[in-house]
Amino acid sequence: MRQLTMSGFGVFASSKKPANNAQMYLTYGRTPGRTCGECAYLCRRVNARGGTWYKCELMKITRGAATDIRRKYAACGKFREAK
Ligand code: SF4
Repeated sequence: MRQLTMSGFGVFASSKKPANNAQMYLTYGRTPGRTCGECAYLCRRVNARGGTWYKCELMKITRGAATDIRRKYAACGKFREAK
C-alpha cells in the first residue's frame, strides 16, 4: 500500500474513473473473499494532524469523504494482491 501526503493529492485524479465502490462493482464485478484492505491499489492518505483515510488509485479521488474507501469493503474485480 502506498502512502500519499497532501502534496500528492490529485496524482491519480481523473473524471473518467469510477467515483465510488458501487460504480467499481458495476463496471468490474467483485472478487469473492477479498477486501480492499488486501489490495495493492489501496492508498493510505495522511494529513498534517495525523488523520488517516484511504483512497483507491483506480477511482476518482476528491478531497471529500465520498471517495474514501474502507479496508473492510468487498474487493472489486480489479483487485490485485498487495505484496
Ligand atoms: S479492490 Fe482494489 S481496485 Fe477495487 S475498489 Fe478496492 S482498492 Fe480499489
